[in-house]
Amino acid sequence: MPRYIKMYNKAFDDFYECGECEKELSISDIDTSDWTCKECKEKVVIYSTETKRPLIRLFSTEVNKSDFIFNYHQGEFVEIRGITELTNKKQRMFGLANYGGQEVGLKDFVDCLWR
Ligand SMILES: [Zn+2]
Repeated sequence: MPRYIKMYNKAFDDFYECGECEKELSISDIDTSDWTCKECKEKVVIYSTETKRPLIRLFSTEVNKSDFIFNYHQGEFVEIRGITELTNKKQRMFGLANYGGQEVGLKDFVDCLWR
């Protein structure tokens, strides 16, 4: 059985930055419905005490093959080897190195290594 992965956790967010506006952001500067900068609408860079490396917070539909998901359960980045669209139209399946297939809701957030 594949192990369950926790792909999203804002509890560890340390601080936020916008690369486009070149400044640190407070949570009130961010549209948290999609984790973009309210000013320029670009994705914010998330620095996390847990991940050590900067994150981008994506909807599962924005994730691409070769992105690296952070798994909060094991404290490690995991590479996405493949993505399958499920016929139920509510989920996608990520094929992950060492973890097998993981189903994620289309509206679910996924914390990935900044790209
Ligand atoms: Zn900005």
